[in-house]
Amino acid sequence: MKLTRKSDTAPTNNASNKLGINRRQFMKQMGVATGGIAAASMMGTGMIRRAEAKDVPHNAPTEIKRTICSACAVGCGLYAEVQNGVWTGQEPAFDHPFNAGGHCAKGAALREHGHGEKRLKYPMKLVGGKWKKISWDQAFNEVGDKMMDIRKES
Ligand code: SF4
Repeated sequence: MKLTRKSDTAPTNNASNKLGINRRQFMKQMGVATGGIAAASMMGTGMIRRAEAKDVPHNAPTEIKRTICSACAVGCGLYAEVQNGVWTGQEPAFDHPFNAGGHCAKGAALREHGHGEKRLKYPMKLVGGKWKKISWDQAFNEVGDKMMDIRKES
């Protein structure tokens, strides 16, 4: 499914303008929200849960979900195409103030985070120059402690 821009005018930063804030303020607020979500996840509030594989019938209806790319701190907008609860396709959001209808190679490969065969399936830690598999509890605790240290220092 292709999602195309309906107007002939060039995209503008309408979303941030409608909110009555400039791009810098928008970025700052999105950063705070993203950091809060990440911190909550690491504190084990149940926001991370096990994914279950689902079949997608050939003719399953497609829902369009507007979301944000999580591959870097820019936060480009995209439309996820979801069938039977499975993310089957995507298009960059033409009406998002940051990416205005485009995204980079990382954004284009975003679904690989959840579906790719080569994706990481457990946390890894670099110990003495070698990657070592660690438990989720160890990863949450170490990252959470480090974040709390950074918060205290800054
Ligand atoms: S599409 Fe690229 S630039 Fe935009 S948030 Fe994703 S990784 Fe970052």
